[in-house]
Formats: sequence, C-alpha cells, structure tokens
Amino acid sequence: MAPAMHEWDDETNLFAHSVIGYAIERLRLPKDTQWGAHPADVLRVALEHVITPEGVGGLEALRVFRDVLLPACRPMDDPMNLAYVPTAPSVASTMFDLVVSASSIFGGNWEAGAGAIAAENQALRWLADLAGFPDTAGGVFVSGGSAANLSALATARDAFTKRRGSRPARYAVAATDEVHASVRAAARVMDIEVVAVNTDEHGRMTGEALAAALAAHDREFPDDSVFAVVATGGTTNAGVVDQLDAIADVCEQHDLWLHVDGAYGLAALCSTLARHRFRGIERADSFGVDPHKWLFAPYDSAALVYRDPAPAAATHAQHGAYLDAVDRGDWNPSDYAYHLSRRARGLPLWFGLATYGTQAYTDAVDSALRTAQAFAGEVERRPGFRLLLPPELSVVLFTCDGWTAEQYTAWSKHHAAAGEYLVVPTSWRGEPCLRICVVHPRTDPQRVIEILDDLAAAAPA
Ligand SMILES: *Cc1c(COP(=O)(O)O)cnc(C)c1O
Repeated sequence: MAPAMHEWDDETNLFAHSVIGYAIERLRLPKDTQWGAHPADVLRVALEHVITPEGVGGLEALRVFRDVLLPACRPMDDPMNLAYVPTAPSVASTMFDLVVSASSIFGGNWEAGAGAIAAENQALRWLADLAGFPDTAGGVFVSGGSAANLSALATARDAFTKRRGSRPARYAVAATDEVHASVRAAARVMDIEVVAVNTDEHGRMTGEALAAALAAHDREFPDDSVFAVVATGGTTNAGVVDQLDAIADVCEQHDLWLHVDGAYGLAALCSTLARHRFRGIERADSFGVDPHKWLFAPYDSAALVYRDPAPAAATHAQHGAYLDAVDRGDWNPSDYAYHLSRRARGLPLWFGLATYGTQAYTDAVDSALRTAQAFAGEVERRPGFRLLLPPELSVVLFTCDGWTAEQYTAWSKHHAAAGEYLVVPTSWRGEPCLRICVVHPRTDPQRVIEILDDLAAAAPA
C-alpha cells in the first residue's frame, strides 16, 4: 500500500518512522563491506517491479533499497576504506542532513533562505579564517571540488577579460600534471588551454617552475593569454602541497588569478600537524575544500571561497523577468557559482562544527595524519617495502619489492572481495605502487599496519 503523498495519516507516520529508524540503523551498525563492482543484471531484476502506476508502497521500496540496492554500494565511510579519497561523516552532520532535506530550504538567495545562508556563511567564515582571508571574503557550498574549480576558473577568466577590455585569441591556465582531473575537465568545458608546469621531485609546483613555464609558453604561443594558475593544496594522488607562497609571488608579478584546489587537503588547515604546509594560501584569490572528503560532512558538499566575491557575482548571477521580484538582500549563494536552485549543503558542516566544536575537527584531522605517519614509518622500517615519498598529509605511496602492476591489482581485488579493506594501486612517476589515503579518525593504525603483513605473506615467488 502506498502512503499518502502529502498528508500525514497513520500510515505516513509509521512509514516516516521506519525510514528514519532505518537511517539511524545505517549510522550505528557496521556496514556490509562490499568493495567490488556489482553485477548490473541482479539490480535490474530487483528493480523490475518497483516503479508501477500504483506504487509498491514505502516499506517495500525501503526493503528493496535495504536488501538489494545499498549492499551494492560501497561503504565509503568504512574506516578501512583507504582508497581514492574516502569520507567520514560525523553522526551530527549526517543526521542534520536529514533535517536539511526535511526543511525544503531554497539555499539560492537571501530572501528565501536567510537563516540557512547565515549559518552556511558562518561555516565558510571558519574556513576563510583558517586560510587567513580578509573579512570581505565570501563564497558558497557547491556539489564538489569539480564544480568549485569550474566556477572559480570561469570567474577568473571573466575578471581577466573585463580587465583587459577584450577577448584574447586563446585563454589558458597553468597547472602541473599532478592537478586533479577536474581541472582539465573544466578546461575542456571552457575550451581553454592548460599550460603544463613541471613538478619537483616531490610532485610539487614551485614558483621557479611556474615562472619558467609561463616564460616558455609566452615565447611559443604569444597569442595565448594565461589568466589563472591552479595550485593544489594536497594532490589527490600523493597528498603533496604545492609551494603556495612562491606561486603567489609569481601570480602577483604576472597579475594572475591564483586558485588553490584543496578539495582533499585543505581540510588540514585546521590541523596542528600540517597547517604550516599551506603557507601562502592567504594570498590566493580563491580556494576550494570538500567537507565531504575530510571535514566529516556527508555527500555532497564543497566550499568555494573567494578573496573578493564581487567578480564571482558578476560572472555567475542569473537575471530574468521571473527573478525580478526577488529581493536579493544581503547574500545570494546562487551568485557565486554555476547554479541557481541549491540545497543548503553547507548546513551539515555547520551543525557538526556547532555540535562538536572546532577542536574536535582539529583532533580528528590530526588523528588521520598520525595514522598515515605511523603507517609510513612502518613501511620505511620493514624490509621488502619502499616508501616513495615522506607523507605531507594523509596519503602514503609505497611499493613492495618486485611487484608488478598486475600483482598489485590482483592483491587489491582479493582483499576487496574478502571485505577486509580497500587499498587500490596507482602509480608514481610511472612506477606502479600502492596508495592509502586516511581520513577517518577511527581508522585503527594497527590494522593499517597489518596490511603490510598481508602483503609480505602474499609476496610473489
Ligand atoms: C576529489 C578532488 C577533486 C574533485 O572533487 P569532487 O568533490 O569529487 O568533485 C578536485 N580536486 C582535488 C584535489 C580532489 O582531491
């Protein structure tokens, strides 16, 4: 039986409590650790009779989700998920995400969502303060680091064109090979060039390399106009922070917009152990950081912060007859990225900060950093393993003597299928290797170190 769509009768009541009870159960209980890929045909069969003219009822739909669909999703917040960049949303931020959904807030403009926006801005202010941005800074929560990069670069290009007074033959941004794939994707969407900047032996962009790349590009393509530099505050593959201060010097000399992509790493601005690595962030024009990665908020949430938000509004604000009646008021998040309607997706971070206090965030980020350091130390100590880089943040790259890429992959799949942990291979400077990325404060360092025992036992003959 289907409950009423917008009425609160007894059946709706029962159904709503079942759903919320189930959400709490999901938070409390260990997840089914299904790390591998799932057969599409099982899911197709399970879904065959679900969407019908009459509806199957909420409890049946919930059953399908619980028994078939969710087990076919990876538990991204499992403390032993050490692949890609995992997530570790807190209880408070996750539960509050339900409240945000239940409240139907339009987070696009002040008129409609002032209360939510004021709180989101408080959370953005916490980040802006950590970065040393001025009081006039401001921004918006978008869906992810990819959206943040695209919106920041679109702003930077528009500001550049206005300053210049005309469009150049070609636009370009400068970035290294270690930059996240979303920056190249944004360049494709914007139809602009990417000027490749060499990295040092740690995979970092240095000021010198940036200056050299700009000079060389200028000689070769004098018609290109480089308008921005994308530096990374914690590369995804290696967790390495570019030399932000020296890069900012070059950007200043060349009058270039500096965007710092910190989707993963800038969370460590709140840490005691890694904060110093971001010296120079205070000189950026914009930065992004994903609370859904390492700031304990659920998907999807990325903070985009501008030193001066005015150019962003000039680029992104939408106007139309149907919007004329809007009293735009104090602050309109819609104006600061490519979107109009938006979920107030910064509220779960805000609620978590309010609930636990900022010190809890510092402690939680430090704890992941310590786990990565402990693991890296053990890699260095043990014969048969090689640490490829001293970890700057919570990513550790390492090799097992004599292993090939195929052996890493087979080993990774075996332990994924067993539901023990997810560690996937990558490569560093062309060499196949293993990579762990820790974000969960409850990842047990001892269990991570025991992965080395498994690797030693699995060593190819
Ligand atoms: C993850 C990541 C992104 C992309 O973020 P999404 O939230 O997945 O869109 C961008 N940049 C860096 C450095 C990242 O680690």
